[in-house]
Amino acid sequence: MGITKTDFMRGMQCPKMLWLDKHKPGLRVIPPEVQQRLDAGNDFGDLAMGMFGPYEEITVYRPGTHIPDKKAMVQRTKEHLLRETPVICEAAFLYYNNYCAVDILRKTATGYDFYEVKNAAEVHESFIRDAGFQHYILKRSGLKVERIFLVLHGPDEDYPFVPVEITGQATALYDWVNDHIWELNRLQKEKEELFAEPGKQCMPPYPCWYYGYCHGQPETNGQIRMEDL
Ligand code: SF4
Repeated sequence: MGITKTDFMRGMQCPKMLWLDKHKPGLRVIPPEVQQRLDAGNDFGDLAMGMFGPYEEITVYRPGTHIPDKKAMVQRTKEHLLRETPVICEAAFLYYNNYCAVDILRKTATGYDFYEVKNAAEVHESFIRDAGFQHYILKRSGLKVERIFLVLHGPDEDYPFVPVEITGQATALYDWVNDHIWELNRLQKEKEELFAEPGKQCMPPYPCWYYGYCHGQPETNGQIRMEDL
């Protein structure tokens, strides 16, 4: 059990959040408005797969589930890299069990560009960190990454995909990712529940799904109250 991109982002927001994800996921309560935002993001991501024309999607699910089969996805990605497939979506990479799946991987003459799709109108710092984690895993996996882009949601609904290059900002996070990834690996495996004082980390960049649990609000059934946001 290593660290995924989501694990890394959540663990950097609060190590206890990561620990609860691994050991007590049943306590998670996702408010409907957050779920709607996640669903809209997934829909936009699906649409963006075709932004460069024909593509190969790598996603493989475990039989009878909607849980990605990461090892099978990594294997399929290797096959498409060998075949020099021009555009690979959900290209999966594993480095010492640390995992990421890149939204869009596009072959260039001498390497690969990758695109992280975000259903947002502007760049947020968390998007850069997200791409920085992926760059770390891809580089450690031996892939030659040339340029890194975010794909934002532009105003033209006929073609809403707006690439913004963030190569410099994302690659600059390489050492920062390396400094934290192994510690998060260790923390997620702790047997005892981690202690974290609730505070500012419980909200930005996203409201924590364990807010009710950590703030002792059983009467809300864990739901985040709007006045708390
Ligand atoms: S509610 Fe706050 S303290 Fe509890 S897991 Fe979430 S971020 Fe951490």
